[in-house]
Amino acid sequence: MISAPDENTPPPPHGPAVPVARAVRQAVADGLVGPGSPVAGFVDVRGVRDSVSALRAAFGGVPDVLHTFAAKACSLVPVLRLLAAEGMGCEVAGPGELRLALDAGFAPGRIVLDSPAKTRDEIGEALRLGVALNADNLDELDRVDALRAPDSASVLGLRVNPQVGGGSIGAMSTATAHSKFGVALRDPGARERVVEAFARRPWLTRLHAHVGSQGCPLPLIAEGLAVTHRLAEEINARVGRRQVTSLDLGGGLPVNFADDRVTPTFAEYAAALTAVEPALLDGRYGIVTEFGRSLLAKNGFVAAVVEYTKDAGGRRVAITHAGAQTATRTVFMPDAWPLRVGAYGPDGTPKRTPTLRQDVAGPCCFAGDVVAHDRELPELAEGDVVVLHDTGAYYFSTPWAYNSLPRPAVHGYGCAEAGGRVRFATVRPAQTVAEISRESGLAQADALLTSFAADPAGRERRAPAGVPSRGPSPEVAGPGHP
Ligand SMILES: *Cc1c(COP(=O)(O)O)cnc(C)c1O
Repeated sequence: MISAPDENTPPPPHGPAVPVARAVRQAVADGLVGPGSPVAGFVDVRGVRDSVSALRAAFGGVPDVLHTFAAKACSLVPVLRLLAAEGMGCEVAGPGELRLALDAGFAPGRIVLDSPAKTRDEIGEALRLGVALNADNLDELDRVDALRAPDSASVLGLRVNPQVGGGSIGAMSTATAHSKFGVALRDPGARERVVEAFARRPWLTRLHAHVGSQGCPLPLIAEGLAVTHRLAEEINARVGRRQVTSLDLGGGLPVNFADDRVTPTFAEYAAALTAVEPALLDGRYGIVTEFGRSLLAKNGFVAAVVEYTKDAGGRRVAITHAGAQTATRTVFMPDAWPLRVGAYGPDGTPKRTPTLRQDVAGPCCFAGDVVAHDRELPELAEGDVVVLHDTGAYYFSTPWAYNSLPRPAVHGYGCAEAGGRVRFATVRPAQTVAEISRESGLAQADALLTSFAADPAGRERRAPAGVPSRGPSPEVAGPGHP
């Protein structure tokens, strides 16, 4: 397992750490961010590997553990493949993420399908592949009953909502009284119905809870998981055998967006669980985890060019290329999702100019497209580069297509030896405008004209001025055609 390094141990195989400032400087030198590439995302490969190592070390005492990565936190095939190579499994929530996980090379038995809206087809596919599945509710269990072949290799579980309450961000709190997720355990009769559901189905062997996400304090998460563990004990006592053999603890370790410290740590998470429920990690249950944000957030950043600056109502505004298309949550909920912004010059070195209170705005055509309001930063100017820190999860990997802005390129970075040159590898190229048009129905460009003629049949149809004709069409050509 992981031991403390000393002079005799070789350096970790992950290569030296690369500070963000060095990565930014080399990215600018390499033209990955600059005039021709106004916004891009970056993933710290060594940082990702180190985060996985920290997670494994924190659960080092649990004999049977499967750490899955919540694909939605960074749904990029090369990143998923990196995580697979580090020994992770993958948590997916629908056919797209399932496809990404398979393409990334995760074995089906190391994939967990969680979603509150699985269709019969999706359930059938998971069962055929041997992907583990956590039913969200008792009706979904009925569907599994109908679709499951007796020899299906899928590990099957049920998601419960321990209803222990929410954290500071309502939209991120999954264990509230009215949450849409899982079986609400404290509702009248629910616990009994869950126990009976297990008693009737010997193949149902897992309990799942994902208590919350950013904004949920560790004691709240621990309390929710303790309730889940006690339910497993109750089910096993009632059925008189160890039917529930594993607990899927979900993810949700919050991330510190305020500075560079990783806090809380995975070790603190494990300690918080055992403080509340000492038997939870004692090895009698196999353990599955589903962390997303805490594995990737601090291992990525967005860099974007400042296109213009202006003054408006006595406030300086920097118009950059990073807005709601890549920092959607921050733009719409700035108080819940504040981001640190770094200011760099056109050469990619940190700016030393005097500071000024400024808005850092994005390129989208709506007034609220601002990633940092009234922020004290070195005075920004045209051609500078701003860095949005801690955006490795749920930011550049999950862009929003507003204004048909292209999905930014994503690059991984690392360094072979300490002080050596930072090198990049493309994770996802920037979307081209041709791709945007194709994905916006180009192949169906005429669909609304040909299917819904403007005039009654037999009358002359007019193409709008300036629209090129798509080949000869006898009814269209004729006298009077413009
Ligand atoms: C989103 C999600 C996760 C990951 O949450 P993080 O806060 O990113 O760790 C894990 N499990 C389920 C079911 C989820 O919906």
